[in-house]
Amino acid sequence: MVQTINAITPLDEARAILGQHFDLKFSKAIERATAPVYDRVRDKIPEIEWPFYAPLIFEINRLKKEKDAVILAHNYQTPQIYHGVADIVGDSLQLAVEATKVTQQVIVQCGVHFMAETSKLLNPSKTVLIPDSRAGCSLASSITAEDVIAMRKMYPGVPVVTYVNTSAAVKAVTDVCCTSSNAVDIVNRVEGDTVIMIPDQYLARNTAKLTHKKIITWAGSCEVHETFTADDISELRHAYPTAKIIAHPECPPEVIDAVDFAGSTAAMIDWVKSTKPPRVVMVTECSMSDNVASETTGVDFLRGCNICPHMKRINLENVLWSLHTMSEEITVPEEIIPAARLAVERMIEMSRKRD
Ligand code: SF4
Repeated sequence: MVQTINAITPLDEARAILGQHFDLKFSKAIERATAPVYDRVRDKIPEIEWPFYAPLIFEINRLKKEKDAVILAHNYQTPQIYHGVADIVGDSLQLAVEATKVTQQVIVQCGVHFMAETSKLLNPSKTVLIPDSRAGCSLASSITAEDVIAMRKMYPGVPVVTYVNTSAAVKAVTDVCCTSSNAVDIVNRVEGDTVIMIPDQYLARNTAKLTHKKIITWAGSCEVHETFTADDISELRHAYPTAKIIAHPECPPEVIDAVDFAGSTAAMIDWVKSTKPPRVVMVTECSMSDNVASETTGVDFLRGCNICPHMKRINLENVLWSLHTMSEEITVPEEIIPAARLAVERMIEMSRKRD
């Protein structure tokens, strides 16, 4: 029988399968080897749970060397992945840029499917793995290449700026990608007074407030950020009057208007680390706040977040299984790679010129 581990494999079953291939006992040697990792996550992971995570972290880090692999992890990954096994962490832009520099032959993407596709576009000769290929994204699934082609026909000559949270097929029919870090800059740099910016209606509307260009958008949204409301921010202000509240630009504009700072995940991290507010609420994905809290002293992080179910499909069990079995491998049809890659590379190039 073919054995497989994915997000719906019950934890005890996943561990039973892994136990046939790895010694997952929490030995003194593993305790010593993983002690520096535990120091970073002790605020988030109770000591009693560490014996369950540590052997997996130990084996993943051992296998990475054996298989010449590097792990890229998004800021929304759990602390045990972010601090325990990731080699490179960041937001979509940072991961895309770093993906162009890795020397290892195997890339394991701890994030969602479009991120793994982006790594493959930038490293077509390398093996790119995602531990669970069903880790999708409500934005990426909101639009198809045919939709973009239809928009182009409706607005001939208008440049198309596409959020990286899209499939490779969509990227292949657009002019340039953007992330939440560089959206305003990219929109300002493309030619013309009007821009098609897809698929996130909220990122587009928030960007429109910061540029003179006319923006035509699409009805996509992030299921994690779209649910925050201005009333939520009022309630948070009432509950935590001394806290600063910061949010991601995938939130609705009325939320962005009500917070103290808005920016991409990387911009939020920089803002917290540089301004060091005594108390902060990060209106975004929950692991983001946990991960920043673990590396920032003197700031009290209060809860005001949602969980992304797609990001949480990735766990230590399926990362280990992915490395062990070299699955699930990401492929992108040869014919769309050049155009999709060009859209990402244009974005990286424009971002480099930014300063
Ligand atoms: S947080 Fe939102 S944009 Fe990010 S992967 Fe999840 S659904 Fe997609």
